[in-house]
Amino acid sequence: RSSAEKFEFQAEVSRLMDIIINSLYSNKDIFLRELISNASDALDKIRFLSLTDKEVLGEGDTAKLEIQIKLDKEKKILSIRDRGIGMTKEDLIKNLGTIAKSGTSAFVEKMQSGGDLNLIGQFGVGFYSVYLVADYVEVISKHNDDKQYVWESKADGAFAISEDTWNEPLGRGTEIRLHLRDEAKEYLEEDKLKDLVKKYSEFINFPIYLWTTKEVDVEVPADEEESSEEEESTPEAKEDEDTEEDEEKKPKTKTIKETTSEWELLNDVKAVWLRSPKEVTDEEYSKFYHSLAKDFGDEKPMSWSHFTAEGDVEFKALLFVPPKAPHDLYESYYNNNKSNLKLYVRRVFISDEFDDLLPKYLNFLKGIVDSDTLPLNVSREMLQQHSSLKTIKKKLIRKALDMIRKIAEEDPDEYSNKDKTDEEKSEMAEKKGQYAKFWNEFGKSIKLGIIEDATNRNRLAKLLRFESTKSDGKLASLDEYISRMKPGQKDIFYITGSSKEQLEKSPFLERLTKKNYEVCFRLGVSLGSVILDMN
Ligand code: ADP
Ligand code: MG
Repeated sequence: RSSAEKFEFQAEVSRLMDIIINSLYSNKDIFLRELISNASDALDKIRFLSLTDKEVLGEGDTAKLEIQIKLDKEKKILSIRDRGIGMTKEDLIKNLGTIAKSGTSAFVEKMQSGGDLNLIGQFGVGFYSVYLVADYVEVISKHNDDKQYVWESKADGAFAISEDTWNEPLGRGTEIRLHLRDEAKEYLEEDKLKDLVKKYSEFINFPIYLWTTKEVDVEVPADEEESSEEEESTPEAKEDEDTEEDEEKKPKTKTIKETTSEWELLNDVKAVWLRSPKEVTDEEYSKFYHSLAKDFGDEKPMSWSHFTAEGDVEFKALLFVPPKAPHDLYESYYNNNKSNLKLYVRRVFISDEFDDLLPKYLNFLKGIVDSDTLPLNVSREMLQQHSSLKTIKKKLIRKALDMIRKIAEEDPDEYSNKDKTDEEKSEMAEKKGQYAKFWNEFGKSIKLGIIEDATNRNRLAKLLRFESTKSDGKLASLDEYISRMKPGQKDIFYITGSSKEQLEKSPFLERLTKKNYEVCFRLGVSLGSVILDMN
């Protein structure tokens, strides 16, 4: 197109696209989930704006907050459309190509060392997964503040943007058209798409429709001869005749096949956190976690806590301990207050970057909070100041620490000395080593919590684990240490160094172990001094 402006992809983005295009990764399905997740994000954004300004939604179909999927078998195009916030020309240029996010190079590195492409969404570059299945992609978008534009790229290092003067006006929102590669023709099958939406996008909070084509039976007037033939040959025809007996004056009809098309709803929009915990299965929690955290690895969350808080401040929450720490957990620890919780007010998504819903040291948790007490029609800034948030935060911390404590309590490596029935033992066998795993992934967060959260210091201290001269290669808690203390021993001894091997050779250690004192090993970087109240 002559009016198209050309842009080059930022270098890292270009590398990322090369990796995706040339990937032999067999699970190409993931692109659909990424596109639906983007559509859902865009719908959340416009719904949020509409809280303070109804006008933004527009009228008629434009106001419908939904996602539509359409297939064009002849042209081999799969398109996904939302009526979300849309993108201005500038948004298209920035978001889809010229500005690399911090996750871009992190993901490129991961992929070069054999990482799992499935985790692409966690790195904030999920959009580019479209090139797993398409060799040419068009993004048509209309934002309230701009005209309609088309972004297009064949992933050859460049993309083009043109003002859209030829497609149907979208009203508002975005349509992504994937021109599928030959090997990806399966994504033109309705059944395949239905399965995928079921599998990956079950927990999307907006209706997802697929344009489906069906063969249906229609009754049309028939001439005498044909209908009498039918009557004799098929039992159904006989039945028809019976029912029509007293309507003899009506003309005879026959059934023919006709194709009709309609929007078929693929998901039932249900918020897991609003259901009673008794009714939600472990598998559903697990799947919800995966879609919430964009963590589509094979592992289940380590634990979760689903509860309703009542009283002055009412809210429902569902918190998860992920199976693994995210790649950038401690990277920007001191200048990042954003929790990983999604905040909803009366079912409406407000933000997933709310400041200070949880203290920093608990930012490894994922989850959602839905409050009935917070006001809906105020700005994010006003909401951020709301007095209820303090109460919410306090309750969330309690519940989070309880949940973590339970991982330890249920872990047989931790409390192997407790009397258990056989049934309990087999149940516990599954949880073997869970807390050690937790400690390995998130132990640093607990230590940071001890420094930062004076109110909960004692609760956090119970979650600490150390290897020690008497822990026999396992992790010991301070309670265990105390139970092994010598009569009259007043202090807890610890020794700091870079490795256990090095510490075991220390002459200081020898002096204490000779006197049969237990000494904890503190490995790695020192976190400053910590004073613990041991009562
Ligand atoms: P992420 O969703 O994690 O931000 P993506 O690579 O999936 O990363 O998307 C990149 C960006 O492109 C999004 O942050 C958003 O700004 C924009 N975007 C993608 N799809 C849409 C859409 N359907 N509507 C509006 N904006 C979109
Ligand atoms: Mg995305």
